[in-house]
Amino acid sequence: MQFKKVLDEVKIYEAGKPIELVVREYGVDVKDIIKLASNENPYGTSPKVTAKIQELAKNMFMYPDDSMFELKDALAKKFDMESSNIIIGSGSDQILEFAIHAKCDENSKLLMSKTTFAMYEIYGKQTGATIIKTEDDQHNLEQFRKLYKENGADIIFLCLPNNPLGECLDTKEVYKFLEEVSPETLVIVDGAYQEFAAFKDENKKIDAKDIISKFPNVIYLGTFSKAYALGGMRVGYGLANKEIIKNLYKLRPPFNITTLSLAAAIEALKDEDFVSETIKRNFEEMKRYEDYAKTRGFSYIPSYTNFITLKFDDKYISAEVAQSLLKRGIIIRDLTSYGVNAIRITIGRKEQNTRVFEVLDEVLESLN
Ligand SMILES: *Cc1c(COP(=O)(O)O)cnc(C)c1O
Repeated sequence: MQFKKVLDEVKIYEAGKPIELVVREYGVDVKDIIKLASNENPYGTSPKVTAKIQELAKNMFMYPDDSMFELKDALAKKFDMESSNIIIGSGSDQILEFAIHAKCDENSKLLMSKTTFAMYEIYGKQTGATIIKTEDDQHNLEQFRKLYKENGADIIFLCLPNNPLGECLDTKEVYKFLEEVSPETLVIVDGAYQEFAAFKDENKKIDAKDIISKFPNVIYLGTFSKAYALGGMRVGYGLANKEIIKNLYKLRPPFNITTLSLAAAIEALKDEDFVSETIKRNFEEMKRYEDYAKTRGFSYIPSYTNFITLKFDDKYISAEVAQSLLKRGIIIRDLTSYGVNAIRITIGRKEQNTRVFEVLDEVLESLN
């Protein structure tokens, strides 16, 4: 059967491997599996959120509140905005999908960093748009400028900090760049890990209200999947001027968020202590990964997120390292498909990380 021609160019997104698969394929005991592949919060769901979900379970025969009043209200307070500046999605992924489909067709151009969040390209190609990437793996604004001058762009993606590499541009540099961008170009500032970056370094912090008021062509994306520990609930949001939000709403399916997801996100926002505690621990544990990499003689990218990218240069082949770890029950992300010889490890809990170091030592030894 013939489908849209542009789909020939679309790759299927490859998610982190689920625990069940490792049990089935490698016969590893469930309790010995450590999954540090999808940048989930390793400290689990806040108990307050779990309690709320249980309480609401009996109401599942009803559709959710499609106005999403309560969650928008809570986000409006958090960001000091109005509800009309907010759209909620099934993950911030869905907001990306709305934005790209609202803006692009086969004549459009999308500008992004070479190694960045895979969905920018996937949604882009669904519309038939042309993808333009910088030469450097990490965000390099000089290269963005050059390519923008040469080609223009309908959408520019800035992942701040960047997944899967972990680096983050300085906010000042970003603002300088935004001043040079046409008001007709939509700039997507993906803040999936902003909570982590803002904690680690003030210079990387993006004030969503400030950026969208100074630059009416910017949409800021946030998610509950990472710091807020709700990956399984699929809730994200876009913050932008009312015009942008109104247009994205035209692509939104009815009831795109479940009742439980809405309630979980509202509850998670009330438990900021849980979030800040996990962020603090994240960076304590990240330090151990940095020390580990230093003592074992390979490089890493200084990270402003809840993961760290270890680069093997020509010492090891990342696909082999990832596969050997998997057989031993440790699920991490190999970055071969992104064109880099590196692995990305989500920073786990203390005891998980200790185990990762032990097993990684074994694996590297066996590959020598
Ligand atoms: C995880 C992630 C998202 C979106 O996650 P959702 O679960 O769809 O909210 C968006 N951008 C980046 C860079 C991410 O890492």
